Amino acid sequence: MAILEEPIKEVLTIKNYVGGEWIEPKGEIAEVINPATCRVIAKVPLSSESDVDEAVKSAKEAFPEWRRTPPLTRARYLFKLKELLEEHFEELSRIQTMEHGKTIDESRGETRRGIENVEVATGIPSLMMGYNLEDIAVGIDEYVIRQPLGVFGIIAPFNFPFMIPLWFAPYAVATGNCVVIKPSSEVPISQYKLAELVEEAGFPPGVWNVVNGGRAVVSAMLSHPDIVGICFVGSTPVARDVIYRRCGETGKRVIAQAGAKNFLLVMPDADLERTMAACMTSFYGNTGQRCLSGANLVIVGEGLNENEYSAFYKKVVNAFVESASKIRVGYGLDESVQMGPLRDKSKKERVVNFIEKGIEEGAKLTLDGRNIRLVGDWPKDCFLNPTVFEDVTPDMTIGREEIFGPLACIMRARSFDEAIEMIDGNPYGNAASIFTSNGKWAREFQYRVRCGNIGINIGIVAPIAFFPFSGMKNSFFGVLHGQGQEAIRFFTESKVVIQRWF
Ligand code: NAD
Repeated sequence: MAILEEPIKEVLTIKNYVGGEWIEPKGEIAEVINPATCRVIAKVPLSSESDVDEAVKSAKEAFPEWRRTPPLTRARYLFKLKELLEEHFEELSRIQTMEHGKTIDESRGETRRGIENVEVATGIPSLMMGYNLEDIAVGIDEYVIRQPLGVFGIIAPFNFPFMIPLWFAPYAVATGNCVVIKPSSEVPISQYKLAELVEEAGFPPGVWNVVNGGRAVVSAMLSHPDIVGICFVGSTPVARDVIYRRCGETGKRVIAQAGAKNFLLVMPDADLERTMAACMTSFYGNTGQRCLSGANLVIVGEGLNENEYSAFYKKVVNAFVESASKIRVGYGLDESVQMGPLRDKSKKERVVNFIEKGIEEGAKLTLDGRNIRLVGDWPKDCFLNPTVFEDVTPDMTIGREEIFGPLACIMRARSFDEAIEMIDGNPYGNAASIFTSNGKWAREFQYRVRCGNIGINIGIVAPIAFFPFSGMKNSFFGVLHGQGQEAIRFFTESKVVIQRWF
């Protein structure tokens, strides 16, 4: 067991980055713990309303000049940032593993997707173009121009500490806006490092700000009159009842990406070997702490008689449980490890509570991840092994609610229609996948299922940076989404000009 070198060697003091200055923390401080080793690796300020106000002030001051900066020049700052991100690729990835717990390969994937968003935003001179039409009436021309709005707030969750703010920030600044980012206070180090590289890339002071903290920061952002819009990613209750509601009340535009409960269907004609490989990364990748993680595995008996279905069901379950029980769990900086810890003790306890609830409600615990087996001698505080429940029904708590951990619920559906009804009946609509070799089922699935991200023989339906990161029902509140063209639309206002010359 060889552990890669840790880039964080002593306890870091995280500072806010405001108006191009690093602000020493004052007031309340929280500790950041590496969930694999349980060591404190950083201290983060829990900032106040006045810290947010300072950041918004400097962003507002920077806006007029930044807006006037030609798009190509703005893109050049992003090119420089991209170069620096590539140079620091491995360090940034290892930091994610240290602060979040995910495996180093998962972190490298996260870094890559974050950089991709910077790359897409460098296309801003073409992406931001408007459109026109001559002679809408004789001698009269009309055109649309896209203009930035001002200062945007970006509020991030804990599960992708580096990437998620990059679903928004590169597009916001490329279009000429300024940003105030609030990382999750549980994982603030990646955004701290990113801000250092933003500074090195030479962005003018005030264009990119980071204010650390929790609810007080969010609340100050939501009520600040000079923040014109909010991008939020996090749980459904906060997205719907706090962010979307408050943005409506204060007239801010909003993207609020929320929680999930994703169904994966296995049809009798699926390629089982490939399906199982996809399922393992879907259910247990990122320790199940992904909004795109598989949650419910539905084994569908379409066209099979009782005996055939029973044999098919057993075959899938055996293959699933066998693969899940082989997953190597440990510290993500060990490259042989396939699954890291939960982000912290309380998140583990939450999953354990769901396991207890599942047993109480009558589901069958086929693989119990509470029997912890680790690669290496790490404190077990935040670790769980892969868990599998069978005989789960959609009305059980574990079949219905977002668990956000390495727990798979296996369900039975005798027909394709019954499986679709299960998805329809769930309040979330983030992602759903079907595994089949039949185009008819694939097409029906894509057509009928109300989820924002649909996978056909794909376990994790993660849209690449030039496609929108979608979501429906209780998984998304708003209209336009993060990433790609939709982000450009979100961060700009369309102005119509009609002209006639005498
Ligand atoms: P969370 O809702 O607890 O926190 C998200 C952010 O909101 C954090 O910055 C946090 O400090 C802040 N916050 C938390 N409670 C708040 C409150 N009451 N008032 C104001 N601000 C508050 O989410 P999390 O636990 O950090 O992240 C996990 C959740 O995010 C899961 O539900 C997951 O599905 C979801 N998620 C969704 C997507 C998506 O694209 N749909 C992507 C990643 C994560």
